[in-house]
Amino acid sequence: MAEEEAKEQTENMDLLVSTQTVVGDALNKLGYPEEVYELLKEPVRLFTVRIPVRMDDGSTKVFTGYRAQHNDAVGPTKGGVRFHPDVTENEVKALSIWMTLKAGIVDLPYGGGKGGIVCDPRHMSFRELEGLSRGYVRAISQVVGPTKDIPAPDVFTNSQIMAWMVDEYSRIREFDSPGFITGKPIVLGGSHGREAATAKGVTICIREAAKKKGWNLAGTRIAIQGFGNAGSFLAKFLHDAGAKIVGIADAHGALYDEDGLDIDYLLDRRDSFGMVTNLFSDRISNQKLLEVDCDILVPAAIENQITEANAEQVKAGIVVEAANGPTTLKATKILDERGVLLVPDVLASAGGVTVSYFEWVQNNQGFYWTEEEVEQKLEHVMVQAFDNIYRLAHGRKVNMRLASYMIGVRKTAEASRFRGWL
Ligand code: GLU
Repeated sequence: MAEEEAKEQTENMDLLVSTQTVVGDALNKLGYPEEVYELLKEPVRLFTVRIPVRMDDGSTKVFTGYRAQHNDAVGPTKGGVRFHPDVTENEVKALSIWMTLKAGIVDLPYGGGKGGIVCDPRHMSFRELEGLSRGYVRAISQVVGPTKDIPAPDVFTNSQIMAWMVDEYSRIREFDSPGFITGKPIVLGGSHGREAATAKGVTICIREAAKKKGWNLAGTRIAIQGFGNAGSFLAKFLHDAGAKIVGIADAHGALYDEDGLDIDYLLDRRDSFGMVTNLFSDRISNQKLLEVDCDILVPAAIENQITEANAEQVKAGIVVEAANGPTTLKATKILDERGVLLVPDVLASAGGVTVSYFEWVQNNQGFYWTEEEVEQKLEHVMVQAFDNIYRLAHGRKVNMRLASYMIGVRKTAEASRFRGWL
């Protein structure tokens, strides 16, 4: 019995195991045989690299990095690189499966990939970060490329890091290769609208989900956990759309005001790692924010935030996951039973990779789009993806998470079969 319970708990909390569980359920629902799951439950390739970096004090520190390529039946693999002290091999594997799902959901010609380096960029200088970024590219340059595997920004990586990486890759290859990476600065072939794309995609999902409840965004009370790239842009877009942002949170704590927070002021005071609540003495805990009175709750920070311990206390009628894996499987079930509409991460956060795809297309054709063109195309893709998933969920009487996984995994399963791999 204890063993059963332990297994259930791992399924619930471990990102890789819970991802595999839902991928298995989705393939089952679609009627695929077991061997499809056997192939898709792990990345087809996983690289571990060691990266020596000369530090500012003259010492050399050796960092560990990963790159996982989940499946390339549909096309090159694609996905971000995160710099974080908690990066693990399993996390990178799970996130590479997610990228396959996201690409399937928004119908991009990619499979999923993901990279990570175990490091703490908050305690590294500009020069050390440059050394690390270039060292990572030297270590993986044989196995990535514009038609093989295309990296991008993720947690604690940004357009400057992408710039160092594309420069290093182009030097190694001895020709300019802008399509090697996305999320670049505009002057190096980056796309308009890429920086805010994830938050734009989440905003579209929030608007569409609200419509299903018969709500208008104007006046809707929204709480956002996380004030990093996604959370801060999101707060701004929702605020500008007339929503009332009643709560925000960062790693230090949360702020709540039932009359709505002054978002422009908070954005102005926020540091480059998204911290702002430390400036206020009347903050509440990060966890408490998940339980505040609001219409829509947006976990936009880290995984396993809504669990069976607090899912009953969530007051919101809609939860939109802007972070990766913020709601456990057990909590998803509780929210379902309570009639809360949950828009899953793999759908809500697919705007980033969508505009990354637009960037790559522009690099390949050497012809660049305006911000309006990018926004229109993103709007179209996200609304379509939301609708497909919402309809499938209703048609098959499954929740939106399972419906997203069904749509997300189908293209890769089909492509693997057509190629004769299965
Ligand atoms: N890191 C982002 C994600 O997880 C973007 C990936 C990309 O643009 O390739 O979706």
